[in-house]
Amino acid sequence: THFGFRDVPENMKEALVREVFANVASKYDIMNDVMSGGVHRLWKDHFIRTLAPTPGTKLLDVAGGTGDIAMRFLDFCKETHGDNTAQVTVFDINPNMLQVGKERFEKTPYHSTSQVSFMEGNAEHLDHIPDNSMDAYTIAFGIRNCTHVDRVLKEAYRVLKPGGRFMCLEFSKVENPVVSKVYDVFSFDVIPTMGQIVANDRDSYQYLVESIRKFPPQREFVKMIKDAGFTVMGQGYEDLTFGVAAIHSGFKL
Ligand code: SAM
Repeated sequence: THFGFRDVPENMKEALVREVFANVASKYDIMNDVMSGGVHRLWKDHFIRTLAPTPGTKLLDVAGGTGDIAMRFLDFCKETHGDNTAQVTVFDINPNMLQVGKERFEKTPYHSTSQVSFMEGNAEHLDHIPDNSMDAYTIAFGIRNCTHVDRVLKEAYRVLKPGGRFMCLEFSKVENPVVSKVYDVFSFDVIPTMGQIVANDRDSYQYLVESIRKFPPQREFVKMIKDAGFTVMGQGYEDLTFGVAAIHSGFKL
């Protein structure tokens, strides 16, 4: 491809990722629905139910993009506990994605409350977030775009309070060989073609598919989470839809 995605040198990945998400920002929400047939909504709902935030939870949603996780988090707190004291910071490297998120929140009761805020920055350096300040840290479909995943995990550990929880929702590896074959065809042929038709941008969607393939499989990622200092429960992850996506989780104890 003209971006040369297959061999992106490490020092160019951040710029490339910026460009990709600047390109897709305005179409991002609709493309998620088109490409996943709406399944990403079920995964995200399950992700928040698994986090099961209690009243007053302070969440940092990293790579929060257009605010999908933040919105679900606040809705869950309101609907489950009648809570309007939970707070979320949507943190993202890309101002275009954050802008779409801000406009979305403007149409909700959370707008102009202290329940939601937006912050631009790199997940590898959460410079303005103090140590031990967050009850929970989420990152959904974001960590595979980061250049140094180990630095992202270390920063997550630093900003969480003792007892705080790290949760990651990310595309993962399908182990069933039959499903894996079907999924390969879908992702390599269908997704870039849909990107071309719906968003007139084949290359950005080609990048997204390739970044999924390069991300470490479930157990390898659990090891990275443990290496950052987290304690994991059980096997440390839950597969969703045959492992097309997975939830990884760890506690700062
Ligand atoms: N979490 C949202 C969701 O699930 O809908 C957005 C996911 S989107 C696929 C990935 C997001 O990661 C983009 O908004 C992108 O700008 C952001 N991102 C990529 N690299 C990042 C980094 N190093 N630090 C912070 N955000 C990053």
